[in-house]
Amino acid sequence: MADCLFCAIASGEIPATRVRESGRTVAFRDINPQAPVHVLVIPREHYADLAALTAAGDGLLAEVAEQAALIADDEGVADTGYRLVFNTGPEGGQTVQHVHVHVLGGRPMSWPPG
Ligand code: 5GP
Ligand code: ZN
Repeated sequence: MADCLFCAIASGEIPATRVRESGRTVAFRDINPQAPVHVLVIPREHYADLAALTAAGDGLLAEVAEQAALIADDEGVADTGYRLVFNTGPEGGQTVQHVHVHVLGGRPMSWPPG
């Protein structure tokens, strides 16, 4: 999609520190990390949000989730614990309109979020 930051990262047009890739996903470090481990997993194809991704069906959400779990393992936080977040919509804090899951770990996290 034109003018989408994460489409540009997925295509390599804009650089990012990639940590893992699968057939239909790319994962890279967040530019403004909120925890020692802060990775974003995105589908290569453009979907605006979680609802659009689930509507696409065909196991893509499962592939995103699988990659997130593998990243937690790679980054050494699978046993200590981690958090997966899909910020969705304005009140959910979504600032990039290309669906992504945050993989956060490496420090204790409070609940509920602010
Ligand atoms: P959201 O607020 O939409 O859930 O998350 C968007 C995330 O993208 C933010 O955590 C922000 O730091 C990250 N981000 C924004 N621009 C860039 C960029 O150019 N490169 C990378 N690696 N992350 C970015
Ligand atoms: Zn996009």
